Formats: sequence, C-alpha cells, structure tokens
Amino acid sequence: MRRALFWFRRDLRLEDNCALYHCLKENDQVIPIFIFDQEILSGLPKQDKRVEFIWYCVQNIKKQLNEQGSDLVVNYGTALDVVELAKRFNVNAVYCNEDYEPSSINRDDNIKSALGQLKIAFYSYKDTVIFAKKEILTQQDEPYHVYTHYKNAWRKRLESADYLSYPSLKLLGNFERLDPAPMRALDHFGFVEAGIADAKISKATRHAEFLFEQFKAHKILLYKNDREFPSLNGTSFLSVHLRFGTISIRKIVRDVVRLSQALTGDQKESCEVWLNELIWRDFYFQILFNYPHVVTLPFKKQYIDFPWGDNPAGFEAWCNGQTGYPLVDAAMMQLNTLGFMHNRLRMVTASFLIKLMLIDYRLGERYFALKLLDFDLSANNGGWQWSASTGCDAQPFFRIFNPMTQSQKFDPMGIFIKKYLPVFADVPAKFLHAPWQYQAELLHYGIELGRDYPLPIVDYVHARKHALAVFEHFMMVKKSR
Ligand SMILES: Cc1cc2nc3c(=O)[nH]c(=O)nc-3n(C[C@H](O)[C@H](O)[C@H](O)COP(=O)(O)OP(=O)(O)OC[C@H]3O[C@@H](n4cnc5c(N)ncnc54)[C@H](O)[C@@H]3O)c2cc1C
Repeated sequence: MRRALFWFRRDLRLEDNCALYHCLKENDQVIPIFIFDQEILSGLPKQDKRVEFIWYCVQNIKKQLNEQGSDLVVNYGTALDVVELAKRFNVNAVYCNEDYEPSSINRDDNIKSALGQLKIAFYSYKDTVIFAKKEILTQQDEPYHVYTHYKNAWRKRLESADYLSYPSLKLLGNFERLDPAPMRALDHFGFVEAGIADAKISKATRHAEFLFEQFKAHKILLYKNDREFPSLNGTSFLSVHLRFGTISIRKIVRDVVRLSQALTGDQKESCEVWLNELIWRDFYFQILFNYPHVVTLPFKKQYIDFPWGDNPAGFEAWCNGQTGYPLVDAAMMQLNTLGFMHNRLRMVTASFLIKLMLIDYRLGERYFALKLLDFDLSANNGGWQWSASTGCDAQPFFRIFNPMTQSQKFDPMGIFIKKYLPVFADVPAKFLHAPWQYQAELLHYGIELGRDYPLPIVDYVHARKHALAVFEHFMMVKKSR
C-alpha cells in the first residue's frame, strides 16, 4: 500500500494538475494538504485581498474533496509542517508542483533533505509554466536575455506534448477517505474580509474557466487593439488565476493554439498577440530562476550604484493617487481599490515614479507587491526592471512615458479617469489630460486645483530633462572609470 501527501501551493485546482495526477496515479492513498504559512501571513495587513482569495480557493477544494468522501487537511503553521504531517500520516512520499522563487527553492531543498532523513521521498513537477528553468537556452547553452529571441525559441520548441492535459480529475477515488473537518474562518488566521468580489475576481468556483471561455468567445479576437485601452476591459483578467493556479496554463495554451489554427487575418493575429503575452510570463520565470540576484539587485549590475533620489512626499503622493496627473492617479486608485492595474498603466505609473521622480524602482515594486492580487515576483520584478531600464530586455533609459500623451492616446474620452476620479465626472475629456492648463475652465465645474484635486507634483518637461541629465552623468562616470 503506497501512501503519499499531496501539497497544494500555487496550484489551487484539482483538474489538469501535473503533480496531483502523478501522486494519485502512483499511490493508493493520497492525503491532500494546504498550509497557511504563518511566516508569510504575519507580514501582511489584516485586510488582504490575496489571503482572502486563497482562503476561498482552499475552501472550494475542500468542498470538492468532501464530495468525494475525503478532505483537505488545512494547517496554519510553517512550510516545515509538511515533515510533521508526512510522519503523522505515515506516508512514503510528498508530491508538489515546482515553485521557482529563490526562497521557495531554498525552502523545498530544506524540506526534501528533512524528508530524506526519514526515508520519505519528495517529488516536484513542472506545472506553473510551459517551459521552465533551463529548458529554453541559446545555442551557447545560456538563458535568453532578450524576450523576442526567447519567444521565437519558445514557439519553435512548442509541441502538443507540452500542453497535454493531466487527467487528475479521473483519479479522485485515490484520495484517502477522511472525515471532513470544518474550514476555519478567515479571522482564525488573523484576517478580515477585504472584499474581493468587487475586484472582478469572483469567489465562485470555476470562475477562471468562466473568464477564459468569455475571453475566447469575444475579447481575444479584438485583443491586439483593445488591450491598450484601460476603459475597454479588453484583456483576460486571468493573471490572478494564473498566479494561484486556479486554471491550468496548459489548458490555456492548448485552447489558444487550437483557436489560432482555426482563424485567419486580424483575428488570428490577435490570438497570437495574446499567446505572446503568456510567453512573457515564462520569460520572466526563467529570468528569476537563472538570475536570482534580480530579487534585490538590478539585472544589469552596472546600475547597482545608480543615484536614486530620496523623495518620501513624492512617493506617498504616487501611492495615494495624488500626483496631479489624472491618468496616473486613476491607475493608482484602480490598484488601491481593486488590487489590479491595467498593463499599460503599470508601465505609465512605474515610469512616472522611476523616471520623473527618480525614486528607486524597488520602492514601487514593493508597493505593487503589497497591493496586486496577481502579484508574482517574476513578472512584477521583470515589469519594474523593464520600466527602470535596469532589466534584461528593458526599454532604454531615455524612453520616458509622457503621462499627458499616454492619457490622450489611451483614454481619449477620459472614461477610465472619470471612473476612478469621480471629481471629474462632469468635466469634458479635453480638460482631463493636463488639468493644470485649464484651471479657469475647471472652476466652471466647481473644481479648484489644489483644493479639489492636486496640482501636478512634478513638471514633466523639467523632470524629464533632469532624469536624462542624471542618467547621462552616471553613464559618463561609469565609462571614465
Ligand atoms: C510594473 C509592472 C508590474 C507587473 N506586475 C505583475 C505581477 O505582479 N503579476 C503579473 O501576473 N503580471 C504583472 N505584470 C504584467 C501585466 O501587467 C499583467 O500580467 C496583466 O496586466 C494582467 O492582466 P490580464 O490577466 O488581463 O492580462 P492579459 O493581457 O490578458 O495577458 C494574459 C496573461 O499573460 C501574462 N502576462 C501579460 N503581460 C505580461 C508581462 N508583461 N509579464 C509577464 N506576464 C504577462 C499574465 O499572466 C496575464 O494574465 C506587470 C507589468 C508591469 C509593467
């Protein structure tokens, strides 16, 4: 009789789950576990959308297992509890899916060796991405640094075997029969509800599949164009589900490849553009795995001593959506209220913080990490280092987003701005992209800048010039050394 533990982590689903499939197939009795990690949770605010999201997902899995006559063993402790649970349930092995963050790799190494001393095997599988670690390398056997080259190699290598489904659902009978223990309420873990229902992230089971089906039926066909406009909701909103594994990346890629094969022209191109976004995800995972220094340091080490400025007031204004630039402020309000921000706005707000205020990108990265429901170390770090020009395939330093022209181009009617800054609800769009230029006009709408909405905290033209001068000086000093 072979018994094993299955440890759910960032793969919170029963279907098409690689390690779960192997675990159920290779063992007669499987005990599923989830650990709320005290060490991680203790550093979070009491009202945390992510914790609430995880709590709902865990509850859903528990319900599904109860229907099968089994249960999910939920612990509140530390990752090392796995070893205790393995002993308590007298198992031969522990199964889980791989996690590529440096601290998780370290954690898993420690657990593997602790289990090894007890003669308990530890098996981990690729599930989060299509290609992991060093699967896609250059001809010189080096990891790719340039996204386009990585994408081309990824696409060339992709075969149907890479996105095969693991039919774990068919093996649910191999879960051990367990009496259901009640799911502890969120406050047992020291948290209160943060209201994820309003964040386009329903708590309903199968919400990820629902979103994906909707996206495939309509939005993906227009994605190439619509994805740029925050007011159109033209993206998939699947990032949080990919983050916590409530949908399988293989299913997504499988369906999109098939859909693309059946389409032609613009619709096909739109599908391909979306697939390329998913490849960015794999790209940043392999960067994090192969260059773990990026967690704390710039990818390009020449930026280690870049003279970032110290501007606590500017940082606070940025966090609170009080910069006086409506598009930036509306984006920060979206982040602060929903725990989500549109991709273009992530780039615009990051560029504003880094280039127009010369604030260390790591402060912005940390703020996003705290607020984003879809926070993923690899993509967040990649996005911030791209914006800061310190990353592997980053935009050049002189590329500085102009918040006014971005606003005119991507929110021309001010629909997004008005949604998140209701003070402007009745104001014509033409006054919204640079409101300080229309102070007299705004008074007709009862808005006095400095009282009802902030005056700009930086002057774009001056700030841009200053950033370029600092950068050029920094590079000159580097070269002369
Ligand atoms: C500064 C900055 C920080 C970011 N932080 C995160 C983060 O913490 N977590 C996160 O998932 N994404 C992050 N992104 C990438 C991107 O903004 C989000 O993935 C996207 O906005 C999520 O919305 P969606 O699911 O509707 O995306 P869609 O446009 O529908 O894209 C589909 C999926 O592709 C992946 N994807 C898309 N763009 C990127 C990208 N640039 N890098 C990596 N994966 C991508 C995501 O998994 C996304 O769900 C960041 C980007 C920037 C510029």
